[in-house]
Amino acid sequence: MVVIVDTISNPLRPRHPEKVNRPDSASPPKPDWIRVRAPNTRGYADTRNIVRANGLHTVCEEAGCPNIGECWDKKHATFMIMGDTCTRACAFCNVKTGLPNALDGAEPQNVAEATAKLGLSHVVITSVDRDDLADGGAQHFAETIREIRAACPSTTIEILTPDFLRKERALEIVVAAKPDVFNHNLETVPSRYLTVRPGARYFHSIRLLQRVKELDPTIFTKSGIMVGLGEERHEVLQVMDDLRSAEVDFLTIGQYLQPTRKHHAVMRYVPPDEFSSYEKVAYTKGFLMVSASPLTRSSHHAGDDFARLKAARAATAR
Ligand code: SF4
Repeated sequence: MVVIVDTISNPLRPRHPEKVNRPDSASPPKPDWIRVRAPNTRGYADTRNIVRANGLHTVCEEAGCPNIGECWDKKHATFMIMGDTCTRACAFCNVKTGLPNALDGAEPQNVAEATAKLGLSHVVITSVDRDDLADGGAQHFAETIREIRAACPSTTIEILTPDFLRKERALEIVVAAKPDVFNHNLETVPSRYLTVRPGARYFHSIRLLQRVKELDPTIFTKSGIMVGLGEERHEVLQVMDDLRSAEVDFLTIGQYLQPTRKHHAVMRYVPPDEFSSYEKVAYTKGFLMVSASPLTRSSHHAGDDFARLKAARAATAR
């Protein structure tokens, strides 16, 4: 379990000020199928050293991802740009909330350098929400993509962006930088938005994904949800239909895990056979790729999945 008071950066400032006075919500004990590797290998330490040396943040650490031991051992880290503080306060997320610092102009270059040092053939870049910036951070995303292209021309680039809600023309700036994969997570079904993701709008997120394809059909689009947040099965199937209407290529579905007792409770641990069933149904609805399992996260195995995604597109084009 992760603590909610950030004692590293400022012992007096809670990590989630908006959650401090909430009552604790208890989740059921974790079932046997939620098992993760302890982060103590040589590869893990090497990855951590490179992240630290370049002064970078990762969502792997900030979100308390259960796959960090496995991913970092293989030198797969997901960089989180534009600081470690988010302007939204989603009920599921462990990233710190508050007013972020000014952007670091050297960050795009530092991310490119770390990508080169880690020898990544596929890199995933995400960010905190930056509602405080006029363009929501779109230009910074674009610069980061351009720096990685310049430093590592053969590395493919996947971005996992915020929703750029009320940020006119922001999406166009990011798409023009031509990432290989554009991911934006819906996170949950529409009926749970008010509780789980109150700062976001479901149909805005669907439209964002649809607009990426309209602007550049060569970019792969991807989205994901968590289950175990109180959703019904028929709602998950409806989300699949909505995503296919927006021509999204790749769907990820994973189990929600509660970061602290102040976060949304786990309503249910979805058993592995239900994930398999979701995966089968999603393929019948026309996704090129589906990853659905308890420990699926949008960036988990992203490099291998990108190769499969390209192969799936090539097969349908024949
Ligand atoms: S699944 Fe993604 S966020 Fe989690 S450790 Fe792996 S790369 Fe990081």
